[in-house]
Amino acid sequence: MSEQGELPAISLPLPWHTREWSLLNQQLAAGRLPHALLLVGRQHTGKSQFAIALSRLLLCAQPEGSLNCGTCHACELSSSGGHGDFRWVSPGEKSRVIKIDQIRDMLRFSNTTAGFGLRKVIVLSPADSMNVNAFNALLKLLEEPAKDTYILLVCDHMHGIPATIRSRCHILRLPTPDTETSLDWLDRTTGQRDRSETLLSLSDGLPMLARELECRGNADELEARRLSVEGLLAGRITVHQAYVPWSEMEVSEFLEALTVDLQRAVGSQSLPRLRTRRGQLLFELLDEVSRMRRSVSAGANPGKQLLMEALFSKIHRRLGADTPDGSILEQVGEPTL
Ligand SMILES: [Zn+2]
Repeated sequence: MSEQGELPAISLPLPWHTREWSLLNQQLAAGRLPHALLLVGRQHTGKSQFAIALSRLLLCAQPEGSLNCGTCHACELSSSGGHGDFRWVSPGEKSRVIKIDQIRDMLRFSNTTAGFGLRKVIVLSPADSMNVNAFNALLKLLEEPAKDTYILLVCDHMHGIPATIRSRCHILRLPTPDTETSLDWLDRTTGQRDRSETLLSLSDGLPMLARELECRGNADELEARRLSVEGLLAGRITVHQAYVPWSEMEVSEFLEALTVDLQRAVGSQSLPRLRTRRGQLLFELLDEVSRMRRSVSAGANPGKQLLMEALFSKIHRRLGADTPDGSILEQVGEPTL
């Protein structure tokens, strides 16, 4: 149905979306469900799942209560991604934007008759990844909505959506779950509260990201990397020890992940501590990594190991220098970009 592969027979709303789910169901039962919905909420909190569950409910031939039935032909097709009355529109593989041609295709689709004679559903995600031309084309559809066609726009932030589009959509803000709710939900995947807590902490409290880490099986690597930065900042480990869990990464990946870990380190400091020399050094380091990221995305191609070890040496020297090490520091010098 989307990039998410085969879906379960019935798509349930997430536990923290039940209020919004029941609101839409009341509107649907009363024949007042808006034709254009803008689903807004923090990233990795389940907006896509919400859009999928709603799409499947709208396409199902015989819904049971507020859920799709899971057994009708429409549900079988929507489970495998082959329902002809459904479109999921996202940026292409090597693109960051939804292109005007994709919107034109969507307009043609909206003008056809629903194959099952029921409804058509279009999801645009992320809806703020469109250029002006694409937004203008979409506006035409929103101004003259096709019969029985529902458009679900999904985005993290409202500010990327033009006011002309916003004003023609019903805005539904989807909440971020609190820690306890996220942990209860993660426990269903992990079966262990300790594991759920580790995953949620690695994911900055974002439950869908936490589950993805578990399912992809790379949570342990992520934790090893986080601990290496923490150890380095606390002066508990050597530069070489810190390097080990990062050694397989590409440079751009490394700089991105290091930024997240350094931001986490900044976030864990109290305000008075951030005002000290140490706090200032942390910010300087973040700036430096950020400059390197820009250089790399502009085409610079520094030696991977040299860059990583040089940066770790710098962290160690400036912020974790209470313990002896430095053997690699002298060898690698400063990173140059
Ligand atoms: Zn069904």
